[in-house]
Amino acid sequence: MSHDVVIIGAGSAGLPLAYYLGLLNTNVLVVEKNPSPGQGENKAAIGGVRASHSEPVKIILSKRSIEILKELQKEHDIEFKKGGYLFLARDETALRALRGTGDVLRRFDVSSSIIEAEDLGQIVSGINRSLYRGGLFSPDDINVSPLKTAYRFYLKARDLGVRFQFDEQVTGFERRGNKVLAVQTKKRTYSAASFVLANGAGIAETGRALGMEIPVHPDSHEAGISSLYRQALAPMIVDTSPDAGRVSRTFYFTQNKVGALIFCYTPYRPQYGTHATSRFGTTIARRIIETIPALGDVYVRRTWRGYYPNTPDGVPIADRAAEYENLYILGGMCGQGVMLGPGLAESFARFIVSDIPPLPEEYWKMLSLYRKYDNEELLR
Ligand SMILES: Cc1cc2nc3c(=O)[nH]c(=O)nc-3n(C[C@H](O)[C@H](O)[C@H](O)COP(=O)(O)OP(=O)(O)OC[C@H]3O[C@@H](n4cnc5c(N)ncnc54)[C@H](O)[C@@H]3O)c2cc1C
Repeated sequence: MSHDVVIIGAGSAGLPLAYYLGLLNTNVLVVEKNPSPGQGENKAAIGGVRASHSEPVKIILSKRSIEILKELQKEHDIEFKKGGYLFLARDETALRALRGTGDVLRRFDVSSSIIEAEDLGQIVSGINRSLYRGGLFSPDDINVSPLKTAYRFYLKARDLGVRFQFDEQVTGFERRGNKVLAVQTKKRTYSAASFVLANGAGIAETGRALGMEIPVHPDSHEAGISSLYRQALAPMIVDTSPDAGRVSRTFYFTQNKVGALIFCYTPYRPQYGTHATSRFGTTIARRIIETIPALGDVYVRRTWRGYYPNTPDGVPIADRAAEYENLYILGGMCGQGVMLGPGLAESFARFIVSDIPPLPEEYWKMLSLYRKYDNEELLR
């Protein structure tokens, strides 16, 4: 049986895309190497969803994601929690940069305000104000369960007739001229009118198999979760300063809807691999307790490591390949696939079906596979 569209990857991006293509009456098949949906990097995410970016296209897409996720929560519990994001600045330069971001956010109607150091305690009780010069607070940002969200998109896509083949890894392609004819797995071959690469950290390698350069360079990030803790922390706290030992750069943490603390940091130097490290636990614990001393009695249940599928400029790729007229790329979600996935997938589904850019040209071109990647974002 041939399909209109075959999507490779049932992750943060591929699942909402399958759903939105289904809504547009498209006959879709999703091929996924794992046994169930959302089991790739999606599962590693801690569910932060913010419209507070400094790059306009990401603001627009994430803002839409928040609306979509709000609707999804009405249908089923995806652990939607509106606690906001608080970006902290340790010096005047960092605070000035946050003020600049606040100005950008206002242009896109994203509510945010600068919080002076002495007022930080009104947003986060018990915060060590002496560390910080102030912060940028965006109250409408949210947190969700990445797994529950993925599963909802999967069920909704299936209700629309989307088919899923799990436990099948795409290992090759049949091609003729500038067209892809079919994808191959060890079990079968699937033909379609169009194909979408939405396979996360593996997308560059799949691109190479097609003779294409897709600039996605995954590096690993670590996260953890505590046992349930007395409800204390509303926003996602983001501190972008490195620690003194130069182990981590940005670290961020919040409490999810069910009451567990979830936390993460960006390693000081890029790292690779998916085994949790002992250094993560000691470094992040020290940093969190320095910021909120009262969290010293939190009991950590589990830590893990996964990949950020990074692009050089921190912006995802959503484009049709120039090399193949029926091949689409949806990847490079960096550390933001859960927050960008729904909004981006909704737009990209419209693009695949109509070939009309779904956003104004100035924003849509930022997602091009063929852009220069020379724009370094502040709130990456
Ligand atoms: C520690 C950590 C914390 C994070 N926290 C957040 C956060 O708070 N908020 C946020 O928005 N993002 C966060 N992220 C980032 C987020 O997880 C990723 O951006 C997102 O999951 C990428 O989405 P994707 O669909 O591109 O990839 P994935 O979700 O990995 O989906 C790709 C799918 O393709 C499948 N696949 C790969 N190759 C093949 C093949 N050849 N054949 C068939 N299937 C294949 C994979 O199995 C996978 O299921 C975090 C990531 C990490 C590691």
